[in-house]
Formats: sequence, C-alpha cells, structure tokens
Amino acid sequence: MSKVLLVDDSAVMRKIIQRNIKETGLIVDEFVEAGDGKQALERISDSGDLDLILLDWNMPNMSGIEFVRTLRSLNMPKRIPVVMVTTEGSDSKVSEAKESGADGYLTKPFTADQLRDTLGSYLLVG
Ligand SMILES: [Mg+2]
Repeated sequence: MSKVLLVDDSAVMRKIIQRNIKETGLIVDEFVEAGDGKQALERISDSGDLDLILLDWNMPNMSGIEFVRTLRSLNMPKRIPVVMVTTEGSDSKVSEAKESGADGYLTKPFTADQLRDTLGSYLLVG
C-alpha cells in the first residue's frame, strides 16, 4: 500500500503528475493532494502513513521550501522522503532544497525517464 502526497498550487499540474506516474508504471495506491504547504501539513496529520511527498516550490501561504523546513523540524515517528518537483532548477535552489531536508529533485518539465529514475528510489515499478 503506497500513498503519495502531491503538493502543488496548480490542480492541473497535480493531475499531470499523477497521470505521468501511472504511465511510467510506478506503483501508487493512493494520491493525497494539497494546494500549498499549510494544507500539506494538515494532510500529513490526517492521512497517516505517507511513503513520499512530491513538492512544488512556488505556492501561496506556505512555499515548498518553508514546508520542508517545517516538516524536518517536527518530531515525527518516520522520516517521509520529499522530492521537489519545480521549475526552480538553478544549482543554488537545488542546494538550498537539499540543505533544508529535501531528498530528491525533479525540474519541470520532466520526461518520463527522469520521473521514473527519480521516483524509482522511493516507489516500486510494476
Ligand atoms: Mg507553483
């Protein structure tokens, strides 16, 4: 049973990412969605066990980088992997995200191969 939290302020982007994940054959049983970092924190307390968080950078209310810093400051029973999925692709942004507690990084737009390679470390392939 694999559960993925998709955090992006674009509902269209959340749908695209879900469809792409299914098309690449990565196994996800349930997607949970959030439109900003604040909602994502709520989903984490509601949704129980999450296997992976896919996180946009630029969002209203609470950005991706603020979210990952907050998440890593919480005392949680399990460390949930976080992969940034964002148009912010500069080296300094990638370093900032990793120093803040992100585990992986995928720059939009991404290819099916890039998606499978990046998420394959966290999800099974069918
Ligand atoms: Mg955004």
